Amino acid sequence: MIFERFNFSEEIILRAKKAEELCAREFAKIDEIAEWNSGKVHNAFYNNRISEAHLFGTTGYGYGDRGRDALDCVYAEIFGAERALVRSFMISGTHAIATMLFGVLRPGDTALSITGAPYDTLSDVISKSGAGSLADYNINFVKAKLIDGKIDYDALSEALKDKPRMIYIQRSGGYSARSAIGISEIKKVCEIVRATSEKTIVAVDNCYGEFSETLEPCDVGADIIAGSLIKNPGGGIALCGGYIAGKKELVDLAAYRLTSPAIGTKAGATMEFNRGAFQGIYNAPHAVGQALKAAVFASALFEGMGFETAPKYSEQRSDIITAVKCGSPAALLKFCAGIQKGSPIDSFVTPEAWDMPGYQDEVVMASGAFVAGSSIELSADGPMREPYYAYLQGGTIYSTAKIGIMTAAEALC
Ligand SMILES: *Cc1c(COP(=O)(O)O)cnc(C)c1O
Repeated sequence: MIFERFNFSEEIILRAKKAEELCAREFAKIDEIAEWNSGKVHNAFYNNRISEAHLFGTTGYGYGDRGRDALDCVYAEIFGAERALVRSFMISGTHAIATMLFGVLRPGDTALSITGAPYDTLSDVISKSGAGSLADYNINFVKAKLIDGKIDYDALSEALKDKPRMIYIQRSGGYSARSAIGISEIKKVCEIVRATSEKTIVAVDNCYGEFSETLEPCDVGADIIAGSLIKNPGGGIALCGGYIAGKKELVDLAAYRLTSPAIGTKAGATMEFNRGAFQGIYNAPHAVGQALKAAVFASALFEGMGFETAPKYSEQRSDIITAVKCGSPAALLKFCAGIQKGSPIDSFVTPEAWDMPGYQDEVVMASGAFVAGSSIELSADGPMREPYYAYLQGGTIYSTAKIGIMTAAEALC
């Protein structure tokens, strides 16, 4: 059998077998969601008459790039949006989210995050003095804490009395062990906002959430969303990029910020980007399904070994992340070393913590991926701070992700 090549201990093989047996029900649900979403994506290709010509890119200004325009339409349909902007030159999730915020907000505006402090890399975007942050432009970004990981609806209702310009939701937990905010919660927020402050924009950081449920935030009333193509929607195939989707006028504002006013979505050479972006989104529902299975398996395995995980294997998910509480710097490093060893690229190196740009603490990252830093491929990372959580995500092929996860488990055994 396959495991004989990997020198796993009897104990880990047994634990993995038991964990996998526990996962059967969750796996069946995941397959159903992936099948539904694959159908949705296929339909978007059909409705937009995608053909070979769309896979080739332009150079220079990139005027009249049919592939780029069609890709935007495909994304818009998939994400239940009026318009989408998918670009190789949105370099990351942080860039896409920053573009969304700077595009839409104006001096004097207030944005309220109802999911606590946004992801680490956004902290300087919001407040770093002298860097051209939101604060430098007199844009007020306020954070309402979650209560036991849940949205504080009283605080939301109170804040809406002042008619803030934006309510901001981070769907995934980021570097915190809370569960993701599910689509049903996002729907509830949108309904409350619509009923009490009609013009307030609901914006969602959709990183890691795409295709984990059958609906997306704009399907249930969100006005604008942003995410990264080296996470879920790139399907492990897109080589880089970010996207923004939502109401037409809001996405246009983000496009004016990204390129320049008047040009907006109408220019921007795609060169070799289109093929991978199309193939990636086509593969994404399946890839996310595989990553979700890897996540559920990891929860079951590590719970069985006595570790605290979030979410638990049987809990409802709305992102692909599993947090495993390692408890010490050494254990976090071992965990990441295990994942690295079980990855296709650079499996022979040992990840170390370093001072990554945009992060407040040192961060250790295991990523042995075909696309550098891609976290729809099997990867793990964590800030070097209490209580030393490893955030595990990705795995576009469940069977090999399992080997990586078992290697990490063995390292901690
Ligand atoms: C990854 C992530 C980001 C930032 O994305 P980068 O691509 O790393 O810049 C923002 N928010 C959440 C929830 C994320 O997971």
